Amino acid sequence: MKYVFVTGGVVSSLGKGLAAAALGTLLEARDQKVILQKFDPYLNVDPGTMSPFQHGEVYVLDDGAETDLDLGHYERFTNCILTRYNNLTSGQVYETVLKKERRGDYLGKTVQVIPHVTDEIQNRIKHVAATQGGDVIITEIGGTVGDIEGQPFMEALRQFVQDVGRENAIFVHVTLVPYIKAAGELKSKPTQQSVAKLREIGIQPDIVICRTEHPLTDDIRDKISLYCNIPKPAVIEFTDAPNTIYEAPLMFRQQGFDNYVCDRLSIETEQPDMTQWRAYVARIIDPSFRIRIAVVGKYIELQDAYKSIYEALTHAGAACDTRVAIERVDSEAIEKYGAARYLEGMHGILIPGGFGDRGIEGKVLAAQYAREQGIPFFGICLGMQIAVVEYARNVADLAEANSTEFVATTPHPVVCLQEEQEGITDVGGTMRLGTCVSDIRPDTKAYELYKSATISERHRHRYEVNNGYREQLETAGLTIGAVSTDVDLVEMVEIADHPFYLACQFHPEFLSKLSAPHPLFTGFVSASLEHRNTLADAVTSSLEEA
Ligand code: GLN
Repeated sequence: MKYVFVTGGVVSSLGKGLAAAALGTLLEARDQKVILQKFDPYLNVDPGTMSPFQHGEVYVLDDGAETDLDLGHYERFTNCILTRYNNLTSGQVYETVLKKERRGDYLGKTVQVIPHVTDEIQNRIKHVAATQGGDVIITEIGGTVGDIEGQPFMEALRQFVQDVGRENAIFVHVTLVPYIKAAGELKSKPTQQSVAKLREIGIQPDIVICRTEHPLTDDIRDKISLYCNIPKPAVIEFTDAPNTIYEAPLMFRQQGFDNYVCDRLSIETEQPDMTQWRAYVARIIDPSFRIRIAVVGKYIELQDAYKSIYEALTHAGAACDTRVAIERVDSEAIEKYGAARYLEGMHGILIPGGFGDRGIEGKVLAAQYAREQGIPFFGICLGMQIAVVEYARNVADLAEANSTEFVATTPHPVVCLQEEQEGITDVGGTMRLGTCVSDIRPDTKAYELYKSATISERHRHRYEVNNGYREQLETAGLTIGAVSTDVDLVEMVEIADHPFYLACQFHPEFLSKLSAPHPLFTGFVSASLEHRNTLADAVTSSLEEA
């Protein structure tokens, strides 16, 4: 087993996760079985309890683990299927150490960061290596070198590499090379200093990836090579990908990043064939059509809050030869000024997942607008609950219908808690989480898209459609397209006499890849493209009439 550790320096948000994932793509293209994992130095047991304002999207795995959004990159860029063991936080480390201490496992010793905490961190690498069996494990360490919380992780890695040998493990350090406009120069000093900080704790990086807005000059490569004590080919440039993040593996490949990694780790493989990947990327860069999709949410200003949804739309767009321009619409603005102002002329409307009652009524208005105007609609998780509430109120005549998440005393709780969720007070890890299997009705849009009667999708929610209202909703014309196989719960709804009105309780966005776009997203994007063409035809014929 070979090990690659990816650390970060100078500032956060440099794209360490993307760099790790892109290396994964390249190594897989060299027939290596790659495992990716992330260490997060914060004390939360998992990011499931953090607001998207703090941490962006919570990415959910098959086994129900609520993890860092970088794991989304890992799964989208490679074929690995991750588990809860692939995301370790300080919170988990301390939880384990403290449990052991209470059990008396430490036999009377003083429990310390070194060796007890650092051992626990190393145990996780060993566990993943032993149970997931691959050729290379890429481990990304969250945060920035020098962070107090990160120190035990760095120390653990130093010890680990000592053990497995420098020929089997490398450190890749991602840093910032800022451009000072007034001087017209790139600056290597922050990189030198962050590498010096790594060396202080006994880690010499093997490769430095320089995040930069301008191409690295020869001069700056020389400097970084000299001061950071690495050969020049180990200085890798990482500019913003010009069109899409999926170009990152190609950009790294061009610089021989994967060659260098393989040489350093004595991995003997053929050169990778990136033709297929290049073809996928080409489809994103230069499509024939363009559509506008409104995503109506409350974390709309945040880049990362709906990350997997935006990625899944990109994948589906590539598959449909279409650029999906995403219009982020704040549901609270719809509450103030009405849906038409923001949604008129949109080719599709998507309502993503969410929690809490802020902006809810705006989302209900958006769902109503899509239904009444015949605009393709896709509701995900909360988006499906909203669609059900809207249909109940405006079609099934259940005035003031609501989810009990928003109005506990609603006369028509069409969305409510299941018995097993009642009375749960802990918020961490207590939702319906992870993969569940559902059965699809054969005469539905869902079936047409999945081409399958059973599906398996990832969940993350507490509330469910109230089975007591199913009959009334169905009589009013809402199709229950899918129900869970094990428990009798609504998984998908749709409206038959609408160009495309489909919503699901699960999160299909977590299963979409560029190489395998999700059928529901592809269905939604192609329906939106059709809607665009209908609008265009209408304009042409009214011009002709005039
Ligand atoms: N708040 C809703 C629930 O808990 C929806 C959750 C979601 O959209 N992920 O059921």
